[in-house]
Amino acid sequence: MYKIIIILVLLVILFYMFRRAIQDWGKTDEEKALPGKDVMVQDPVCKVYISAGSAVTERVGGQTYFFCSKDCANKFQKKNSG
Ligand SMILES: [Zn+2]
Repeated sequence: MYKIIIILVLLVILFYMFRRAIQDWGKTDEEKALPGKDVMVQDPVCKVYISAGSAVTERVGGQTYFFCSKDCANKFQKKNSG
C-alpha cells in the first residue's frame, strides 16, 4: 500500500518538474529560434562568416540578421528600406 503512495508522490513531483520545464521553454522560445553563440552565421552584405555571439544583430521585417559590423547592418537596412 505504501508503494502506491510513494509512486503517486513521485508522479506529482515529475508532473511539476515537467510543467516548469515547459514554462521555461516558452520563455526562451524566441531566443531558441536564434542560433547558438558558437554557430557561424553569414553576413548578408559582405558574405563573411562570423560567430553569432560576436555578430551585430539587427531585426529587419520581423527577422533577425547577423552582420560582421554596424556598418554592414546599416547598409543592409538602407538597401531594404529602399
Ligand atoms: Zn559585413
